[in-house]
Amino acid sequence: MKKKIAIVGAGISGLTLAKALLLQNHEVTLFEQHFQVVGAGSGLTLWPNATYVLEKIGALEFCLQTARPLNELHVLDHLGRLLMLIPTEKFSSLAIAIHRRDLHNALSMGLPREMIKTSQAVTAVRETDRGVELICGSSQFGPYDLVVGADGLHSIVRSFVNGTSAKKKELLRYKGYLIWRGIADGDFLKPGQFLEIWGAGHRFGFLPIAEGRVCWYATANLASDWPGLKNAAMQREFLGQVFSGWTSPISELLRRTPDADIICNRAFDHRPARLWSRGKVVLIGDAVHPIAPNLGQGSCLGIEDAMVLSLVLDLPTSTENSLRIFEKLRRGRVNSISRSSNFIGLVGQIQNPILSRIRNEIASVIPGEWFTLSSRRIHAYQADQQVIK
Ligand SMILES: Cc1cc2nc3c(=O)[nH]c(=O)nc-3n(C[C@H](O)[C@H](O)[C@H](O)COP(=O)(O)OP(=O)(O)OC[C@H]3O[C@@H](n4cnc5c(N)ncnc54)[C@H](O)[C@@H]3O)c2cc1C
Repeated sequence: MKKKIAIVGAGISGLTLAKALLLQNHEVTLFEQHFQVVGAGSGLTLWPNATYVLEKIGALEFCLQTARPLNELHVLDHLGRLLMLIPTEKFSSLAIAIHRRDLHNALSMGLPREMIKTSQAVTAVRETDRGVELICGSSQFGPYDLVVGADGLHSIVRSFVNGTSAKKKELLRYKGYLIWRGIADGDFLKPGQFLEIWGAGHRFGFLPIAEGRVCWYATANLASDWPGLKNAAMQREFLGQVFSGWTSPISELLRRTPDADIICNRAFDHRPARLWSRGKVVLIGDAVHPIAPNLGQGSCLGIEDAMVLSLVLDLPTSTENSLRIFEKLRRGRVNSISRSSNFIGLVGQIQNPILSRIRNEIASVIPGEWFTLSSRRIHAYQADQQVIK
Protein backbone atom coordinates (compact mmCIF):
# COMPACT_ATOMS: atom_id res chain seq x y z
CA MET A 1 0.00 0.00 0.00
CA LYS A 2 1.27 3.48 -0.87
CA LYS A 3 2.67 5.24 2.22
CA LYS A 4 3.50 8.87 3.00
CA ILE A 5 7.12 8.74 4.15
CA ALA A 6 9.49 11.43 5.44
CA ILE A 7 13.25 10.89 5.41
CA VAL A 8 15.44 13.06 7.66
CA GLY A 9 18.85 13.59 6.00
CA ALA A 10 19.76 13.66 2.30
CA GLY A 11 23.08 11.86 2.71
CA ILE A 12 23.99 8.62 0.96
CA SER A 13 21.54 6.49 3.00
CA GLY A 14 18.64 8.97 2.73
CA LEU A 15 19.05 9.53 -1.01
CA THR A 16 19.34 5.79 -1.72
CA LEU A 17 16.20 5.15 0.30
CA ALA A 18 14.31 7.94 -1.49
CA LYS A 19 15.19 6.37 -4.85
CA ALA A 20 14.22 2.88 -3.72
CA LEU A 21 10.90 4.06 -2.21
CA LEU A 22 9.96 5.94 -5.38
CA LEU A 23 10.39 2.69 -7.29
CA GLN A 24 7.83 1.17 -4.89
CA ASN A 25 5.48 4.13 -5.59
CA HIS A 26 5.52 5.62 -2.09
CA GLU A 27 5.10 9.35 -1.52
CA VAL A 28 8.45 10.62 -0.22
CA THR A 29 9.68 13.89 1.32
CA LEU A 30 13.36 14.40 2.18
CA PHE A 31 14.45 16.91 4.83
CA GLU A 32 18.01 18.22 4.61
CA GLN A 33 19.52 20.74 7.00
CA HIS A 34 21.95 22.17 4.43
CA PHE A 35 20.85 24.56 1.71
CA GLN A 36 21.76 22.08 -1.01
CA VAL A 37 22.24 18.37 -1.47
CA VAL A 38 25.92 17.92 -2.22
CA GLY A 39 28.35 15.29 -1.12
CA ALA A 40 31.10 17.32 0.47
CA GLY A 41 34.19 15.35 1.28
CA SER A 42 36.55 13.01 -0.38
CA GLY A 43 36.68 9.63 -2.11
CA LEU A 44 34.81 6.48 -1.10
CA THR A 45 35.12 2.81 -1.86
CA LEU A 46 31.88 1.10 -2.77
CA TRP A 47 32.04 -2.69 -2.63
CA PRO A 48 29.92 -5.15 -4.65
CA ASN A 49 27.33 -5.36 -1.82
CA ALA A 50 26.64 -1.62 -2.40
CA THR A 51 27.04 -1.40 -6.19
CA TYR A 52 24.58 -4.30 -6.46
CA VAL A 53 21.93 -2.06 -4.84
CA LEU A 54 22.96 0.98 -6.90
CA GLU A 55 22.43 -1.05 -10.04
CA LYS A 56 18.98 -2.20 -8.86
CA ILE A 57 17.83 1.39 -8.24
CA GLY A 58 19.31 2.67 -11.51
CA ALA A 59 22.18 4.77 -10.08
CA LEU A 60 25.22 2.66 -10.98
CA GLU A 61 25.38 3.72 -14.61
CA PHE A 62 25.80 7.38 -13.57
CA CYS A 63 28.40 6.47 -10.95
CA LEU A 64 30.44 4.66 -13.59
CA GLN A 65 30.72 7.81 -15.67
CA THR A 66 33.41 9.00 -13.24
CA ALA A 67 34.14 6.14 -10.80
CA ARG A 68 37.08 3.79 -11.25
CA PRO A 69 36.97 0.01 -10.73
CA LEU A 70 39.08 -1.58 -7.99
CA ASN A 71 40.53 -4.95 -8.92
CA GLU A 72 43.43 -5.55 -6.56
CA LEU A 73 44.63 -4.16 -3.26
CA HIS A 74 48.41 -4.06 -2.83
CA VAL A 75 49.55 -3.92 0.80
CA LEU A 76 53.13 -2.69 1.24
CA ASP A 77 55.39 -1.94 4.17
CA HIS A 78 56.60 1.63 4.61
CA LEU A 79 59.73 0.94 2.51
CA GLY A 80 57.63 -0.33 -0.40
CA ARG A 81 58.01 -4.11 0.04
CA LEU A 82 54.91 -5.97 -1.14
CA LEU A 83 53.28 -7.77 1.79
CA MET A 84 50.05 -8.88 0.19
CA LEU A 85 48.21 -8.72 -3.10
CA ILE A 86 44.48 -9.09 -2.50
CA PRO A 87 42.27 -9.55 -5.58
CA THR A 88 38.77 -8.08 -5.22
CA GLU A 89 36.03 -10.45 -6.28
CA LYS A 90 33.52 -9.13 -8.79
CA PHE A 91 30.41 -11.16 -7.84
CA SER A 92 27.44 -9.78 -9.76
CA SER A 93 28.70 -6.22 -9.44
CA LEU A 94 31.94 -4.23 -9.25
CA ALA A 95 34.02 -2.70 -6.49
CA ILE A 96 34.57 0.98 -7.31
CA ALA A 97 36.12 4.15 -5.94
CA ILE A 98 34.22 7.38 -6.43
CA HIS A 99 34.18 10.98 -5.22
CA ARG A 100 31.37 11.50 -2.69
CA ARG A 101 30.08 14.44 -4.75
CA ASP A 102 29.72 12.21 -7.83
CA LEU A 103 27.87 9.57 -5.80
CA HIS A 104 25.46 12.22 -4.47
CA ASN A 105 24.87 13.48 -8.01
CA ALA A 106 24.12 9.96 -9.23
CA LEU A 107 21.72 9.34 -6.33
CA SER A 108 19.96 12.72 -6.74
CA MET A 109 19.48 12.21 -10.47
CA GLY A 110 15.79 11.71 -11.27
CA LEU A 111 14.51 12.71 -7.81
CA PRO A 112 11.78 15.35 -8.23
CA ARG A 113 13.07 18.71 -7.04
CA GLU A 114 9.98 19.43 -4.91
CA MET A 115 10.55 16.20 -3.00
CA ILE A 116 13.62 17.61 -1.20
CA LYS A 117 13.15 20.28 1.48
CA THR A 118 16.56 21.90 1.90
CA SER A 119 17.56 24.28 4.74
CA GLN A 120 15.18 22.36 7.01
CA ALA A 121 16.95 21.07 10.09
CA VAL A 122 14.64 18.73 11.97
CA THR A 123 14.66 19.66 15.64
CA ALA A 124 12.06 17.24 17.00
CA VAL A 125 9.91 14.24 16.12
CA ARG A 126 6.38 13.88 17.51
CA GLU A 127 4.07 10.87 17.38
CA THR A 128 0.36 11.68 17.27
CA ASP A 129 -2.82 9.66 16.67
CA ARG A 130 -2.77 10.80 13.05
CA GLY A 131 0.83 9.78 12.36
CA VAL A 132 4.34 11.14 12.90
CA GLU A 133 5.12 14.86 12.68
CA LEU A 134 8.43 16.61 12.17
CA ILE A 135 9.34 19.92 13.72
CA CYS A 136 11.88 22.20 12.06
CA GLY A 137 12.29 25.23 14.32
CA SER A 138 8.93 26.98 14.24
CA SER A 139 7.55 24.94 11.30
CA GLN A 140 5.71 21.67 11.51
CA PHE A 141 5.37 19.00 8.80
CA GLY A 142 3.28 15.87 8.45
CA PRO A 143 1.65 13.74 9.61
CA TYR A 144 3.51 10.89 7.95
CA ASP A 145 2.86 7.13 7.94
CA LEU A 146 6.57 6.63 8.56
CA VAL A 147 9.61 8.75 9.45
CA VAL A 148 13.11 7.48 8.67
CA GLY A 149 16.11 8.94 10.48
CA ALA A 150 18.99 8.97 7.97
CA ASP A 151 20.59 11.92 9.73
CA GLY A 152 24.05 10.52 10.34
CA LEU A 153 26.48 10.28 13.23
CA HIS A 154 24.82 12.92 15.46
CA SER A 155 21.27 11.85 14.66
CA ILE A 156 18.45 13.74 16.32
CA VAL A 157 15.99 11.00 15.31
CA ARG A 158 18.15 8.45 17.19
CA SER A 159 17.59 10.45 20.39
CA PHE A 160 13.83 10.28 19.79
CA VAL A 161 13.89 6.52 19.10
CA ASN A 162 16.12 5.62 22.01
CA GLY A 163 14.93 8.26 24.49
CA THR A 164 17.19 10.69 26.27
CA SER A 165 17.99 8.22 29.07
CA ALA A 166 19.55 5.86 26.50
CA LYS A 167 21.92 8.57 25.27
CA LYS A 168 24.53 7.87 27.92
CA LYS A 169 24.67 4.15 27.16
CA GLU A 170 24.91 4.75 23.46
CA LEU A 171 27.81 7.14 23.36
CA LEU A 172 30.00 7.42 20.33
CA ARG A 173 33.35 5.74 20.88
CA TYR A 174 36.54 7.43 19.75
CA LYS A 175 38.81 4.71 18.32
CA GLY A 176 42.08 6.45 19.21
CA TYR A 177 43.21 7.67 15.79
CA LEU A 178 42.70 10.51 13.35
CA ILE A 179 42.19 10.02 9.61
CA TRP A 180 43.17 12.48 6.91
CA ARG A 181 41.83 12.31 3.40
CA GLY A 182 42.98 14.31 0.42
CA ILE A 183 42.65 14.48 -3.36
CA ALA A 184 45.58 14.99 -5.73
CA ASP A 185 45.79 15.25 -9.50
CA GLY A 186 47.88 12.68 -11.33
CA ASP A 187 48.05 9.05 -12.43
CA PHE A 188 49.89 7.19 -9.72
CA LEU A 189 48.33 3.77 -10.15
CA LYS A 190 47.83 1.09 -12.77
CA PRO A 191 44.16 0.58 -13.79
CA GLY A 192 42.21 -1.28 -11.08
CA GLN A 193 45.00 -1.01 -8.52
CA PHE A 194 44.82 0.54 -5.05
CA LEU A 195 47.47 0.62 -2.36
CA GLU A 196 47.70 0.58 1.41
CA ILE A 197 51.02 1.03 3.20
CA TRP A 198 51.55 -0.14 6.79
CA GLY A 199 54.05 1.32 9.24
CA ALA A 200 54.19 1.58 13.04
CA GLY A 201 51.10 3.49 14.20
CA HIS A 202 50.30 4.79 10.71
CA ARG A 203 48.66 3.68 7.52
CA PHE A 204 48.67 5.47 4.18
CA GLY A 205 46.44 4.42 1.29
CA PHE A 206 45.51 5.76 -2.13
CA LEU A 207 43.04 4.89 -4.84
CA PRO A 208 41.85 6.32 -8.17
CA ILE A 209 38.47 8.13 -7.97
CA ALA A 210 38.22 9.57 -11.49
CA GLU A 211 40.34 10.06 -14.60
CA GLY A 212 43.68 11.51 -13.41
CA ARG A 213 42.52 11.99 -9.79
CA VAL A 214 43.67 10.10 -6.74
CA CYS A 215 42.19 10.03 -3.24
CA TRP A 216 44.60 9.30 -0.40
CA TYR A 217 44.10 8.66 3.30
CA ALA A 218 46.48 8.60 6.26
CA THR A 219 46.08 7.67 9.92
CA ALA A 220 47.81 8.54 13.20
CA ASN A 221 47.19 7.53 16.83
CA LEU A 222 46.43 10.86 18.52
CA ALA A 223 44.16 12.23 21.21
CA SER A 224 40.71 13.26 20.01
CA ASP A 225 41.47 16.87 21.03
CA TRP A 226 44.81 17.03 19.22
CA PRO A 227 45.48 20.80 18.87
CA GLY A 228 46.10 20.58 15.11
CA LEU A 229 42.63 19.23 14.39
CA LYS A 230 41.48 22.49 12.81
CA ASN A 231 44.87 23.87 11.75
CA ALA A 232 45.79 23.08 8.13
CA ALA A 233 49.43 24.23 8.48
CA MET A 234 49.99 22.07 11.56
CA GLN A 235 48.41 19.07 9.86
CA ARG A 236 50.56 19.43 6.76
CA GLU A 237 53.70 19.73 8.85
CA PHE A 238 52.69 16.70 10.93
CA LEU A 239 51.94 14.52 7.88
CA GLY A 240 55.20 15.61 6.21
CA GLN A 241 57.19 14.56 9.27
CA VAL A 242 55.37 11.28 9.88
CA PHE A 243 55.63 10.05 6.31
CA SER A 244 59.10 11.33 5.44
CA GLY A 245 61.21 8.34 4.51
CA TRP A 246 58.16 6.30 3.50
CA THR A 247 57.96 4.85 0.01
CA SER A 248 56.97 7.03 -2.98
CA PRO A 249 54.70 8.60 -4.08
CA ILE A 250 53.46 9.63 -0.60
CA SER A 251 55.38 12.89 -0.37
CA GLU A 252 54.39 13.81 -3.92
CA LEU A 253 50.73 13.10 -3.22
CA LEU A 254 50.89 15.34 -0.15
CA ARG A 255 52.69 18.06 -2.11
CA ARG A 256 50.10 17.98 -4.89
CA THR A 257 47.13 18.32 -2.52
CA PRO A 258 45.91 21.86 -1.77
CA ASP A 259 45.13 22.59 1.90
CA ALA A 260 41.44 23.01 1.03
CA ASP A 261 41.33 19.40 -0.19
CA ILE A 262 42.63 17.90 3.04
CA ILE A 263 39.99 16.73 5.51
CA CYS A 264 40.75 15.46 8.99
CA ASN A 265 38.27 13.29 10.93
CA ARG A 266 38.34 11.44 14.22
CA ALA A 267 37.58 7.71 13.84
CA PHE A 268 34.35 6.93 15.68
CA ASP A 269 31.96 4.10 15.96
CA HIS A 270 28.92 3.64 18.17
CA ARG A 271 27.87 1.12 20.74
CA PRO A 272 25.14 -1.02 19.17
CA ALA A 273 21.92 1.03 19.40
CA ARG A 274 19.38 -0.33 21.89
CA LEU A 275 16.45 0.38 19.58
CA TRP A 276 16.40 0.74 15.80
CA SER A 277 12.76 1.82 15.69
CA ARG A 278 10.00 3.15 17.86
CA GLY A 279 6.41 3.03 16.61
CA LYS A 280 6.51 4.38 13.07
CA VAL A 281 9.99 5.91 13.29
CA VAL A 282 13.07 3.98 12.17
CA LEU A 283 16.81 4.62 11.77
CA ILE A 284 19.16 3.72 8.93
CA GLY A 285 22.83 4.27 8.02
CA ASP A 286 25.19 6.14 10.34
CA ALA A 287 22.19 7.31 12.41
CA VAL A 288 22.00 3.79 13.85
CA HIS A 289 25.33 2.10 13.15
CA PRO A 290 28.32 4.36 12.40
CA ILE A 291 31.37 2.10 12.03
CA ALA A 292 35.07 2.88 12.04
CA PRO A 293 36.27 3.35 8.44
CA ASN A 294 38.67 0.41 8.13
CA LEU A 295 36.76 -1.73 5.66
CA GLY A 296 35.20 1.10 3.60
CA GLN A 297 31.77 -0.28 4.48
CA GLY A 298 29.96 2.60 6.28
CA SER A 299 28.08 3.95 3.26
CA CYS A 300 27.76 0.47 1.80
CA LEU A 301 25.79 -0.63 4.88
CA GLY A 302 23.56 2.47 4.66
CA ILE A 303 22.89 1.63 1.00
CA GLU A 304 22.00 -1.97 1.95
CA ASP A 305 19.70 -0.69 4.75
CA ALA A 306 17.85 1.47 2.24
CA MET A 307 17.07 -1.43 -0.08
CA VAL A 308 16.04 -3.82 2.70
CA LEU A 309 13.80 -1.20 4.35
CA SER A 310 12.10 -0.26 1.08
CA LEU A 311 11.24 -3.93 0.50
CA VAL A 312 10.06 -4.88 4.02
CA LEU A 313 7.59 -1.97 3.86
CA ASP A 314 5.76 -3.83 1.11
CA LEU A 315 5.29 -6.98 3.18
CA PRO A 316 1.64 -7.76 3.99
CA THR A 317 1.92 -6.73 7.66
CA SER A 318 1.76 -3.60 9.82
CA THR A 319 4.43 -0.87 9.51
CA GLU A 320 5.61 -1.56 13.07
CA ASN A 321 6.05 -5.24 12.29
CA SER A 322 7.88 -4.46 9.04
CA LEU A 323 10.31 -2.32 11.05
CA ARG A 324 10.94 -5.18 13.48
CA ILE A 325 11.65 -7.48 10.51
CA PHE A 326 14.00 -4.84 9.12
CA GLU A 327 16.00 -4.73 12.36
CA LYS A 328 16.10 -8.52 12.54
CA LEU A 329 17.49 -8.71 9.01
CA ARG A 330 20.10 -6.02 9.58
CA ARG A 331 21.34 -5.87 13.18
CA GLY A 332 23.47 -9.03 13.19
CA ARG A 333 25.18 -8.18 9.91
CA VAL A 334 26.12 -4.61 10.80
CA ASN A 335 27.35 -5.56 14.28
CA SER A 336 29.53 -8.29 12.82
CA ILE A 337 31.02 -5.98 10.15
CA SER A 338 31.59 -3.31 12.79
CA ARG A 339 33.55 -5.82 14.92
CA SER A 340 35.66 -6.83 11.90
CA SER A 341 36.36 -3.18 11.14
CA ASN A 342 37.45 -2.52 14.72
CA PHE A 343 39.78 -5.53 14.57
CA ILE A 344 41.41 -4.28 11.35
CA GLY A 345 41.77 -0.84 12.94
CA LEU A 346 43.42 -2.31 16.02
CA VAL A 347 45.92 -4.34 13.99
CA GLY A 348 46.49 -1.55 11.46
CA GLN A 349 47.25 1.03 14.16
CA ILE A 350 49.80 -1.03 16.14
CA GLN A 351 52.27 1.55 17.37
CA ASN A 352 55.04 -0.64 18.78
CA PRO A 353 57.75 -0.97 16.04
CA ILE A 354 58.57 -4.60 16.92
CA LEU A 355 54.94 -5.69 16.97
CA SER A 356 54.23 -3.84 13.76
CA ARG A 357 57.19 -5.62 12.08
CA ILE A 358 55.84 -8.96 13.30
CA ARG A 359 52.39 -8.03 11.93
CA ASN A 360 53.92 -7.22 8.56
CA GLU A 361 55.90 -10.49 8.48
CA ILE A 362 52.74 -12.48 9.24
CA ALA A 363 50.85 -10.58 6.52
CA SER A 364 53.60 -11.36 4.00
CA VAL A 365 53.09 -15.13 4.36
CA ILE A 366 49.28 -15.14 4.22
CA PRO A 367 48.00 -15.61 0.66
CA GLY A 368 46.00 -12.56 -0.47
CA GLU A 369 43.26 -14.90 -1.76
CA TRP A 370 42.55 -15.86 1.86
CA PHE A 371 41.42 -12.28 2.55
CA THR A 372 39.37 -12.29 -0.63
CA LEU A 373 37.59 -15.45 0.52
CA SER A 374 37.09 -14.24 4.08
CA SER A 375 35.50 -10.99 2.88
CA ARG A 376 33.06 -12.91 0.69
CA ARG A 377 30.42 -12.82 3.47
CA ILE A 378 30.54 -9.02 3.29
CA HIS A 379 30.84 -8.44 -0.42
CA ALA A 380 28.56 -11.15 -1.82
CA TYR A 381 25.50 -9.90 0.12
CA GLN A 382 22.52 -9.13 -2.09
CA ALA A 383 20.17 -6.91 -0.08
CA ASP A 384 16.98 -7.66 -2.00
CA GLN A 385 17.46 -11.42 -1.61
CA GLN A 386 17.13 -11.10 2.18
CA VAL A 387 13.47 -10.10 2.00
CA ILE A 388 11.22 -13.03 1.14
CA LYS A 389 7.70 -11.95 0.41
C1 LIG B 1 37.45 8.98 7.09
C2 LIG B 1 36.26 8.24 6.61
C3 LIG B 1 36.36 7.43 5.47
C4 LIG B 1 35.25 6.71 5.02
N1 LIG B 1 35.38 5.93 3.91
C5 LIG B 1 34.33 5.19 3.50
C6 LIG B 1 34.44 4.37 2.33
O1 LIG B 1 35.48 4.32 1.68
N2 LIG B 1 33.36 3.61 1.95
C7 LIG B 1 32.18 3.65 2.66
O2 LIG B 1 31.23 2.93 2.28
N3 LIG B 1 32.05 4.44 3.76
C8 LIG B 1 33.08 5.21 4.18
N4 LIG B 1 32.94 6.01 5.28
C9 LIG B 1 31.66 6.05 6.00
C10 LIG B 1 30.64 6.96 5.34
O3 LIG B 1 31.17 8.25 5.19
C11 LIG B 1 29.36 7.01 6.17
O4 LIG B 1 29.00 5.72 6.58
C12 LIG B 1 28.24 7.61 5.34
O5 LIG B 1 28.51 8.94 5.01
C13 LIG B 1 26.92 7.53 6.10
O6 LIG B 1 25.92 8.05 5.29
P1 LIG B 1 24.55 8.53 5.94
O7 LIG B 1 23.73 9.03 4.80
O8 LIG B 1 24.00 7.45 6.80
O9 LIG B 1 24.95 9.72 6.91
P2 LIG B 1 25.61 11.12 6.53
O10 LIG B 1 26.54 11.01 5.39
O11 LIG B 1 26.14 11.69 7.79
O12 LIG B 1 24.37 12.01 6.04
C14 LIG B 1 23.44 12.52 6.97
C15 LIG B 1 22.67 13.66 6.30
O13 LIG B 1 21.68 14.12 7.21
C16 LIG B 1 21.71 15.54 7.30
N5 LIG B 1 21.22 15.89 8.63
C17 LIG B 1 21.81 15.66 9.83
N6 LIG B 1 21.03 16.09 10.83
C18 LIG B 1 19.92 16.61 10.25
C19 LIG B 1 18.73 17.22 10.77
N7 LIG B 1 18.54 17.36 12.10
N8 LIG B 1 17.79 17.63 9.91
C20 LIG B 1 17.95 17.49 8.57
N9 LIG B 1 19.06 16.94 8.02
C21 LIG B 1 20.02 16.50 8.85
C22 LIG B 1 23.18 15.87 7.06
O14 LIG B 1 23.35 17.22 6.67
C23 LIG B 1 23.55 14.87 5.98
O15 LIG B 1 23.24 15.35 4.70
C24 LIG B 1 34.02 6.78 5.72
C25 LIG B 1 33.91 7.59 6.86
C26 LIG B 1 35.02 8.32 7.30
C27 LIG B 1 34.87 9.20 8.52
